Amino acid sequence: MNTLQTRILIALCLFSPQLLKADDSRPNIVFLFSDDLTTQAISAYKYGLELPPTPNFDRLANGGMLFENSFCGNSLCTPSRASVMTGLHSHKNGIVNLSGALDPQRPSWPKTLHRNGYTTAVFGKWHMKTKPNGFDDWEVFSGQGSYYNPELFSAKGSRRVEGHSTDIVTDIALDWLDVRDKSKPFAVMIQHKAPHRNWKPSLKELELYRDITFPEPASLFDNYQSRVAAANHKMGIDQHMRMASDLMLFKGDEAQKVLSRFTPEQRKAYLAAFEKENTEFLADPPTGKALVRWKYQRYMKNYLRCIAGVDRNVGRVLDKLDELKLTQNTIVVYCADQGFYLGEHGWFDKRWAYEESLRMPLIVRWPGKVKAGSRCAAMVQNIDYASTLLDVAGLKPDWQVHGVSLMPLLLNGGVTPADWRKTIYYRYIDGGHGVPQHSAIRTADYKLLHFDSPRNAAEKASLWELFDLNNDPQEMSNLAGHARYANKLNEMKKLFWQTRTFYDDTEESVWTNRRSKQYSPEDYIRLRRRR
Ligand code: CA
Repeated sequence: MNTLQTRILIALCLFSPQLLKADDSRPNIVFLFSDDLTTQAISAYKYGLELPPTPNFDRLANGGMLFENSFCGNSLCTPSRASVMTGLHSHKNGIVNLSGALDPQRPSWPKTLHRNGYTTAVFGKWHMKTKPNGFDDWEVFSGQGSYYNPELFSAKGSRRVEGHSTDIVTDIALDWLDVRDKSKPFAVMIQHKAPHRNWKPSLKELELYRDITFPEPASLFDNYQSRVAAANHKMGIDQHMRMASDLMLFKGDEAQKVLSRFTPEQRKAYLAAFEKENTEFLADPPTGKALVRWKYQRYMKNYLRCIAGVDRNVGRVLDKLDELKLTQNTIVVYCADQGFYLGEHGWFDKRWAYEESLRMPLIVRWPGKVKAGSRCAAMVQNIDYASTLLDVAGLKPDWQVHGVSLMPLLLNGGVTPADWRKTIYYRYIDGGHGVPQHSAIRTADYKLLHFDSPRNAAEKASLWELFDLNNDPQEMSNLAGHARYANKLNEMKKLFWQTRTFYDDTEESVWTNRRSKQYSPEDYIRLRRRR
């Protein structure tokens, strides 16, 4: 082809996207997402206690890159999902708490891919109230969705599907891979409810770990000394975990209510699985610390069984990519919306800027591009995903984002460029589960928390918490009042305000109305103007 012919072809392609389709070899994207699946539970992470292996997460990590310092910006389901979609922190994307709804008009990375010739789909847990927008195909739960026999909603209406949600969502996604528009590259989001509370594993995993006693975290009986706000939590295994709905310890007709969506056969299998242990418990109920330990073990078993189901289904997706010969040209991203407490500080749940819930698992496999078995220590956040996934397709966000593309890390073996961010920003606004609104910054070595809306005089007197992450990785000792750390505290405070300004989150009073109000981006602008 001579120069003139090449020029004519380029011009034709520019004016006729159809011509581009004929040979569109841009990579496919498989975005695997789960809810509340924490890094401590992924064996490839080697973070926290030694827990059961997760062979398929590890398979993904062995074939790609594991991000050792991946964080969310607001440790809660809906806000984190909104950051993933929009590349923006909560204070700018309109979803600040669990009541938030993703504005259908708001730009997102799947929308931009769709507009630029990708076929797009989302299946499973959406959890942002409004209908998915920017997808050729979607079938999602309403709100939290159900573990068993869930109701699924699509453009065609709704249907109830029998089985366990993790298996069902995967089935739908695998079927879609067969029937998708094969003339285009694709991006599919496969999003599981598991292992969200109330932990109900699939019947396939119900017998796992039966005779195993899991190790306990050192802070299971934390007394919260030096951390005033933490003491006021409502997310303790001890006081706030419910025996029937959370732990499957049934009395009277409780099972009927907790397992109301189950078929008779599923219910029978469930009751049989827990019957012996429950009978033993009720014959001689433990109390005090022994009861906490019993609850911890039951919680861990069901939580980790749910994860074993996710892991098995991640394997099914990877096998399907192999079968369809798509592995080589498909980037697979695995992540979850935030971390979770597995008994650390006596807790389950998330929300805090402390490490276990601040961390987000992130593993990326991209054969031929990302070095297999590599690990990246750079600090990354969920605000980076939009830029990254568009970069995969050679695109950039066509709206203002907070995040940056992770491509320089992915393509360079995980080596952190000298100018990479040194600080991440966090702001929790929801206020549920006894966790007060707070903001934080984290550097490689230190973390500073600021309690934005103290609830009592004691919290008011302890607005700051400073942790030395190298010497106190479990964040048990707040150094904010220590004379020896006065200079470090001042330095971190300065950095905190600088970071808040950098992300244009200078308004402190906007969100003090808390959960009941659902803010839109317009509300945010209006409230800021009122200031
Ligand atoms: Ca979540």
